[in-house]
Amino acid sequence: MTRLHFASALLPSGWANDVRVVITAGAIAEVTPGVTPAAGDERHAIALPGLASLHSHAFQRGMAGLAELRGDSTDTFWTWRETMYRFALAMTPDDVASVATLLYVEMLEQGFTRVGEFHYLHHDRDGSLYADIAEMAARIAQAAEASGIALTLLPSFYAHGSFGGAAPHAGQRRFICSVDQFATLISASRKAISALPGANIGIAPHSLRAVTPDELAAIIPLADGGPVHIHAAEQVREVEDCLAWSGRRPVQWLLAHAPVDRRWCLIHATHTTDEEVAAFARTGAVAGLCPITEASLGDGIFPAREFLDAGGAFGIGTDSNVLVGVTDELRQLEYGQRLKHRARNVLSAGAGRSTGRTLFDHALAGGAQALAQPTVGLAAGARADIVTLDTTHPSLAGRAGDAAIDGWVFAAGTGAIDCVWAGGRKVVEGGRHRLRQAARERFNATVRRLVA
Ligand SMILES: [Zn+2]
Repeated sequence: MTRLHFASALLPSGWANDVRVVITAGAIAEVTPGVTPAAGDERHAIALPGLASLHSHAFQRGMAGLAELRGDSTDTFWTWRETMYRFALAMTPDDVASVATLLYVEMLEQGFTRVGEFHYLHHDRDGSLYADIAEMAARIAQAAEASGIALTLLPSFYAHGSFGGAAPHAGQRRFICSVDQFATLISASRKAISALPGANIGIAPHSLRAVTPDELAAIIPLADGGPVHIHAAEQVREVEDCLAWSGRRPVQWLLAHAPVDRRWCLIHATHTTDEEVAAFARTGAVAGLCPITEASLGDGIFPAREFLDAGGAFGIGTDSNVLVGVTDELRQLEYGQRLKHRARNVLSAGAGRSTGRTLFDHALAGGAQALAQPTVGLAAGARADIVTLDTTHPSLAGRAGDAAIDGWVFAAGTGAIDCVWAGGRKVVEGGRHRLRQAARERFNATVRRLVA
């Protein structure tokens, strides 16, 4: 049993003072506000619940910053994708484990305590199946276990190179499954995470580019009630290709033909019309927003203000993992909206309401929903995923409550997180994960070899 005492803590009901949290078997057993610390309580100043990064491709952390050279005059997402393919084609299972371990260590240091791993690097380098079809999934699980982060594994079904069942190209050979192979992969993946505390599984039809309507219908039952994630409408060219194929835009097509509901998460629903935004919000599905990656790839800006006005739910993801941080994603999300609307505090819940707090609340609830976590936050029954802030950080000086969140999100940069508990284990202390040094050394050796 662990007993923590916080001078203030953000509970589901709002901020509370003098809060004792009792942790047993990795979960929060009791939360009691308004009590003085007892002997043996570990004391901290400000506690927040950990957030989920609901969308990650772990292996891409290895190529972060390596696609910043301009190509030809039409250099866009698609040339970045070629760099990604080259990198993906070289990685061994050990490489994936070492890259994912550092990534998850960094996520925990930055306040993410659960990751939705949209996992599509399945097969050996020549495209043949590993002896255990879930070899790569097992390496992701291994990285999650070493770091302590909670894993929602989302094995991705990827079968085609473009809309209408086009043949995949050679660069995609490590991603490709038939429906039958995917069913085998899902059951092997269930086994790979079965001993991992806090882990669960869903499925991820990669995109309408990579999956035909018949295949989509065939694989959805494999989710077995778990989450369903899909890349929706990331790029303008993708929307144009979808219109040419079906006469509908991607989000429009999904809402018309797929059973989109609260279990679903549409990643990068970036290019959506007002009608699509309203219909999407009505389904109760979560918008998976990855503002840093969407900016990095030049995707465009999601109509977040309109989506929230329509009652939509969103969570945040680190996606390409080019930069990893709760505050980076939340700040980029808001700043994109400010630039678009030429206004301040665009996503705030209303007059006098904190923008940082609004963003945080949405990301907490939307991330939990998208990764099928029924109980979240600092509440009895939730996994004990807790983040404390360093109140000696200059951007937190004199702040309390929502003002501390605003200071953290908009002004602190990195270095404002003190401790992180993941599943009740204190894995980060003084801002450093206990595995930071070892994970960096292993990652660096891997990446030096891959880029040589
Ligand atoms: Zn993605």
